Amino acid sequence: MADDKKLPTRAEDFSAWYNELVLRAELADYSPVRGCMVIRPNGYGIWERMQRQLDDMFKETGHQNAYFPMLIPQSYLHKEAQHVEGFAPETAVVTHGGGKELEEPLVLRPTSETIIYSMFAKWVQSYRDLPVLMNQWANVVRWEMRTRLFLRTLEFLWQEGHTAHATEHEAEEETRRMLGIYRDFMEGWMAMPVITGQKTDSERFAGALRTYSCEAMMQDNKALQAGTSHNLGQNFARAFDVQFQNEAGTLEYVWNTSWGVSTRMIGGLIMTHSDDKGLRIPPLLAPIEVVVVPIYKTDEERARVLEAVHRIKDNLLAWERRAHARLRIHIDDREGIKPGAKYYEWELRGIPIRMEIGPRDIDAGKAVLVRRDTGIKGTYSLNTLGEDIQDMLSSIQEDMLVAARDRREKNSVREPITYDAFRAVMEGDGAFVYAGWCGSAACEAQIKEETKATIRCLPDEEFRSAVAPTTCLKCGTAAVAEALWAKSY
Ligand SMILES: [Zn+2]
Repeated sequence: MADDKKLPTRAEDFSAWYNELVLRAELADYSPVRGCMVIRPNGYGIWERMQRQLDDMFKETGHQNAYFPMLIPQSYLHKEAQHVEGFAPETAVVTHGGGKELEEPLVLRPTSETIIYSMFAKWVQSYRDLPVLMNQWANVVRWEMRTRLFLRTLEFLWQEGHTAHATEHEAEEETRRMLGIYRDFMEGWMAMPVITGQKTDSERFAGALRTYSCEAMMQDNKALQAGTSHNLGQNFARAFDVQFQNEAGTLEYVWNTSWGVSTRMIGGLIMTHSDDKGLRIPPLLAPIEVVVVPIYKTDEERARVLEAVHRIKDNLLAWERRAHARLRIHIDDREGIKPGAKYYEWELRGIPIRMEIGPRDIDAGKAVLVRRDTGIKGTYSLNTLGEDIQDMLSSIQEDMLVAARDRREKNSVREPITYDAFRAVMEGDGAFVYAGWCGSAACEAQIKEETKATIRCLPDEEFRSAVAPTTCLKCGTAAVAEALWAKSY
């Protein structure tokens, strides 16, 4: 598997480090088609765990899964003016089928608002049919020019939630609720802290009334938009004629929301946590939590150690049944590979705990556990191994979130800053800069042109600075909002 060549370091070249890590940890690979990605089992195992947890969270909040086709009549995209403007440049279009030119070209879905709301129009008649709370797990295609594994690819996997409500208030509540679920997931499961807030008009989803996002800081101090939730207002309802009869008997348009997260989150997880040795996966998302590396020199030792390792695994299974716990353990009993080479490989793959066990450990009734996040090594009694592993996994999960949040705060600027100083920060190491904004799109565009930084969001109250900025970062006139500025992926 992985060769012994060292990864480029983050300090040397963050971008090369990321690409090499994805390939060497066997998370994904390039496909024969430019910009497409093959997700390998190590990467897909993380996605599956993400999917499983999010799916539970969606269902707990009343959503049901459905599936809509990936081919959409091209004319559908044109029904909502802003939507087509936003998505037309990046659509892939099918013009032929079965050797014949199609009467109407079909678009490979870049997102499914149009097809889904055309169906809602058929299914929703009365206020009794509302709310409709649906989600689909699917692939989408966006013809991107510059692509990066997991971060931006022509085809990617995601979920898209689509709902219809009787009132604007309910739609807004749903939009915020799902943003909150994304935040809970990203912090609780990915150990990736996020800033939530509203997007400015220039960054809003094409066709939405309001867009909210989760913004995470990567280790190069750039922001990654990790999830979005949109209040679509009645724009799509009008375009697709989704109407319902209210209690008074009059016809009204429904209010829609849509929200999504994608395999991009895996890129976020990598760039939040990994180090120069390779990946570090938060335990809750790790397909393997503990890897056991048996240590021996002779054949006789090998037989003895392997026998003990399997006994330890059986004891752990018995403990799991008593404790209603479930540990994902893998025994690396491959022959002909030295323990050091195995350590290297499992560190590259980011497995949270490594258990080392040799003849002397067995005699002492002990095993060595090594944490991937800190590298700290300790000796533990075989009698309490289950509890100790479980405690260690929870500590790792928690500590990874704390470490990521500390790093973000250390690289955030909340003090009043001049535009020149801001430019210097963005030309240098970068940062999350909280500063005033006058509300003008011109200031926003100029800053982007001069520094490549954009308003990631207008942060929700809990993330705003204690003393609100009073003037615009660019033009110095009165600020209407505090904005979070950063360069982004
Ligand atoms: Zn301004």
